[in-house]
Amino acid sequence: MTTASPAAGVVSFEEARHIVEKHAGRISPGEAESTYLLSAGGRVLAESIVADRDFPPFPRATRDGFAVRAQDVAEVPSRLKLIGEIKAGDSSTSTVKVEQGQAVSIMTGAPLPSGADAVVMVEYTSQSKSTVEVKRSVKSGENYVSRGAEARQGQSLLDRGTRLDHAAIALAASVGKGTLQVFRKAHITVLATGDEVVTIDQTPGPSQIRNSNTYSLAAQIHNAGGEPILLPVAPDERGRLKALIEEGFKSDLLLLAGGVSMGKYDLVEEVLSELNAEFYFTGAQIQPGRPIVFGSCKRQTRAGAPAPHLHGRYFFGLPGNPVSTMVTFELFVRPMIQALNGGKPQPLIFLKARLKSDVRTKTGLKRFLPAVLSGEFENAEVELARWQGSGDIAALAGANCYLVIPPDREQISAGEWVSLLMR
Ligand code: AMP
Ligand code: MG
Repeated sequence: MTTASPAAGVVSFEEARHIVEKHAGRISPGEAESTYLLSAGGRVLAESIVADRDFPPFPRATRDGFAVRAQDVAEVPSRLKLIGEIKAGDSSTSTVKVEQGQAVSIMTGAPLPSGADAVVMVEYTSQSKSTVEVKRSVKSGENYVSRGAEARQGQSLLDRGTRLDHAAIALAASVGKGTLQVFRKAHITVLATGDEVVTIDQTPGPSQIRNSNTYSLAAQIHNAGGEPILLPVAPDERGRLKALIEEGFKSDLLLLAGGVSMGKYDLVEEVLSELNAEFYFTGAQIQPGRPIVFGSCKRQTRAGAPAPHLHGRYFFGLPGNPVSTMVTFELFVRPMIQALNGGKPQPLIFLKARLKSDVRTKTGLKRFLPAVLSGEFENAEVELARWQGSGDIAALAGANCYLVIPPDREQISAGEWVSLLMR
């Protein structure tokens, strides 16, 4: 791994993303703990979930109708003798056998009786007391799922490292797992910086602003499955900033917000350098968010003594402009949190929609601009939100996605397909 000096290392968006993914891929998960299935949403599995029996455990009817021998209804209409009824939950299948010319009334979810090899939907039949007339043929195997077709007993259904969404939770429920082994949530420290930034319960002076970045980051960390730890705002002063950064390195990942631009009082990179930080990049060719910094702190010695808890702690220095902070989290921080949580870092995939009105930009940077996706069903349209730049939180709050503009495009016309990052 090469050490870039803080002054160097501005890379393309794709390069920056790949650098983060490379580091995320090397992270080994933390300890496991157990959780109730009902609280497991968003957590990452620390065990694999195995089928405790065949799925389905019996040949399961998928329609209400009549269990038949397909060959008996090859020619229609065909009249069959009704010999019984099986509803979901019945265990009478062993006693019922469908012979030539016979049918059994069956409900969705019920076990197919022996002898039968298809289910005719009730819509294509008419029933009298003891017979049923079938008006449409079925093929062998139609309208039921054979035993074990979805999974065999002992087969792995969910791998360790899977993030539990509602479908994964349903699968765990289906094998009777009321408690699950999951990885401990990664602890992510948030450290906002800036002399002008005051806490939200203070009345800001004429040139002060309230701290919003700590709150947007905490919400994004929760959403990514991490546990935020919030530090007080660091002033633009070396000593205090350093102490707070050291505090942040006790957690799994440190997110700094602000103080990474080129200004005289942007001290974050300098202080990180004093702490022997290794920088992987110190900027990306994007807008908003160009000054983003990513690195790790290998070791820190205080008064010459080694401090083992500081080994290999990753950090991001996010730009302080609120929109930049939020965008750069989505672009770069999320995969690190996924990995620290024990999951597989997910690739970033943009969706496509048609542009609603022309866009003009300058070339040179890949842009992620607040935009509004509207329309319905297959007719999605996107247009830029009106905004005053990277400090315009209200514009972003009114938007629902980012429009992704490649660095070589000056003009994109209405009707063109464009890429989006949803949020
Ligand atoms: P910086 O990245 O420190 O140069 O800050 C860029 C802009 O973002 C400045 O206008 C700051 O006032 C603003 N800013 C920095 N930190 C925060 C914060 N925690 N909450 C809201 N705005 C901030
Ligand atoms: Mg600042």
